[in-house]
Amino acid sequence: MHERAHNEALTEKRGKVIITRGMNIKSHSLGLSGKCDVLEFHENPNGITLFGWEGRYLPFPIEYKHGEPKENNCDAAQLCAQAMCLEEMLCCEIKQGALYYGKPRRRELIAFTDELRQEVYEAVEQMHLLYMKGYTPNVKRTKKCNSCSIKELCVPALMKNPSVKKYLEENL
Ligand code: SF4
Repeated sequence: MHERAHNEALTEKRGKVIITRGMNIKSHSLGLSGKCDVLEFHENPNGITLFGWEGRYLPFPIEYKHGEPKENNCDAAQLCAQAMCLEEMLCCEIKQGALYYGKPRRRELIAFTDELRQEVYEAVEQMHLLYMKGYTPNVKRTKKCNSCSIKELCVPALMKNPSVKKYLEENL
């Protein structure tokens, strides 16, 4: 990770901020892995040291989203999960990050409160439980599916089809 953070192709420094893109992240305790869109390191005496850089820095994750903010809390929870992965990897505390929406084109600050962290713990627990049971929850196809990054895996259009069991019952 330190090598990647110092990769000139992925990392640059602007003033007191180091900006890195596409960093792989992981939490063993949460059982999550993923990639940060953009991770900034803000120079701060209370921060952590980074291999190859002088000074101390506080990590600040930023997630880019198409379109407008959603009605539910899922984007904030995703960002908080990223912060929780980073905290485990970098042995630090991350208090806030930002979501950047295409509309309006600006950052929205997100505080990683105890409530939001609890939401992440609960979602992670539920996800692992479903995975262990081998159960794929039914999904409802909505407009947001068009811009979803995992739509090829989720294939929500298949939900319109009747189940194999129903097909067999009707046709045998
Ligand atoms: S494609 Fe699947 S995961 Fe993505 S928004 Fe639609 S239902 Fe959710």
